[in-house]
Amino acid sequence: MKNVNRLCLVLGDQLSFDLASLQKIDGAHDTVLLVEVMEEATHVAHHPQKIALIFSAMRHFAQALQAQGMQVQYVRLDDPDNTGSIPGELQRWQTILQAQEVHLTECGDWRLEQSLHECGVAIHWHGDTRFLCTREAFRAWAAGKKQLRMEFFYREMRRKSGLLLNGDGTPVGGAWNFDAENRKALPKNTKAPYPARFDADAITAEVLALVRERFAGHYGSLDDFNYPVTHADAQALWDYFLDFGLAGFGDYQDAMASDEPYLFHARISAALNIGLLDLRQVCSDVESAYWSGRIALNAAEGFIRQLIGWREYVRGVYWLKMPGYAEGNVFGNRRLLPEFYWTGETQMNCMRQAIGQSLEHAYAHHIQRLMVTGNFALLSGIAPQQICEWYLAIYMDAFDWVELPNTLGMVMHADGGYLGSKPYCASGQYINRMSDYCHGCAYKVRETTTDDACPFNALYWHFLMRHGDVLRGNQRMAMMYKNLDRMPEVKQQALWQRGQQLLDRLDDGEAI
Ligand code: FAD
Ligand code: SF4
Repeated sequence: MKNVNRLCLVLGDQLSFDLASLQKIDGAHDTVLLVEVMEEATHVAHHPQKIALIFSAMRHFAQALQAQGMQVQYVRLDDPDNTGSIPGELQRWQTILQAQEVHLTECGDWRLEQSLHECGVAIHWHGDTRFLCTREAFRAWAAGKKQLRMEFFYREMRRKSGLLLNGDGTPVGGAWNFDAENRKALPKNTKAPYPARFDADAITAEVLALVRERFAGHYGSLDDFNYPVTHADAQALWDYFLDFGLAGFGDYQDAMASDEPYLFHARISAALNIGLLDLRQVCSDVESAYWSGRIALNAAEGFIRQLIGWREYVRGVYWLKMPGYAEGNVFGNRRLLPEFYWTGETQMNCMRQAIGQSLEHAYAHHIQRLMVTGNFALLSGIAPQQICEWYLAIYMDAFDWVELPNTLGMVMHADGGYLGSKPYCASGQYINRMSDYCHGCAYKVRETTTDDACPFNALYWHFLMRHGDVLRGNQRMAMMYKNLDRMPEVKQQALWQRGQQLLDRLDDGEAI
């Protein structure tokens, strides 16, 4: 049989041994290509820990493939011949190796996939089988629906995966969703298990030095990099969470606490997104923990819902709606992102905590992203593209397919309610209920219009007043508007004034 000379490009978020495109090549004759390029590291100013994670994990993965007998070409960032872009490197190596076939698994970023389609290399594309739902299956599910709802998609995924189902196909526990049990505030003095940490080996140390030198201008600290960069260490991170964190995940999923960056969250998103952990295995481990009686149903169901529900759903929406989705701006927001998002220098303790830990660890858990930094951006009318860029840059786990729908759709409601049925807007009362942040804050959470009143309060009412044209017709917002309409005119005016004053201060570049 005649040997075809194949080249398989593996991207930095495709570090899975069972990647579809890798199954198509013959390790002894064909070549696997991995490239570190400036364009991907700088198209937004990614957190230095994220760049370090990806480069180090790529280098470890290349080594592991070689150990399996595969031929690997690895292009380092500082290679003098490096063209600086993925399409550039693909063209260069196709020519050098005289490759007759080029194989690639579909990308996680519309921009990159488009540029590869246009780069003049004929590519054999492969679906990303690491996800449960293909792009095509999601398109078929969404066809003809004016609005999508995650809950219905999630039920399909439960049926498809068989997770937490009785023999007759009904959901274990008699309901699909136990979210109502997952909103408890943290009891005083609860200490979360600090997640497993991983020391830098020689490869990571070399990458850290490179990143420190080449990306010094990017926001975020490299000092406490302790994230897993191999499959074995990612597995150890996951095992640690299974043993010590998962049981608390359900009850305290929405809780926040000062100086507790992780609480009962797994911190596995980055490892999952770059391929160091496998979605199906993770879900099956959670299900086993439930069947063996180690965790309650609300923890198991809640965790699995995040993975086969939200994670798959946002990916489906992204590929269905791109590229137009990124332009969504239903409220017509124009405000620039305040500088304190990049420094954490604000008097608002909740924002200082959430931003501070994001700069330090490239991590914040879901409710901090949604109800603190996201909520503030929504209420203060930040331009969606500005806040999306921040989330994409600052988080270790941020890739366009998952960051964009979460930020533009879920947080900013900028898609007009396609992804989520209502904006997650909330006043300071919500943050006070779910955290201890307000105790240590310069602002008073119970005040609304005084100079020291919590900014979230007046901004919340200002948001409802200024967007009544878009939101009043939404049934799920009816109670909020009822409360607004009940308020005396003079109170409404005072709230409007205080809200406007805060927005003016943001426009003047003041930290609040
Ligand atoms: P846990 O709380 O332990 O949850 C377990 C897993 O569920 C996560 O690892 C993640 O894979 C998955 N998950 C949970 N919620 C979501 C969700 N809404 N969308 C997709 N997956 C979910 N997640 C990313 O992976 N990358 C992003 O760029 C990203 N950007 C976000 C931006 C905003 C504005 C918001 C509100 C959420 C974003 N999320 C993103 C979702 C979620 O916040 C993170 O997945 C989670 O905080 C990661 O931490 P963890 O691994 O400790 O998660
Ligand atoms: Fe945040 Fe307001 Fe509480 Fe301060 S008072 S921590 S600004 S919610």
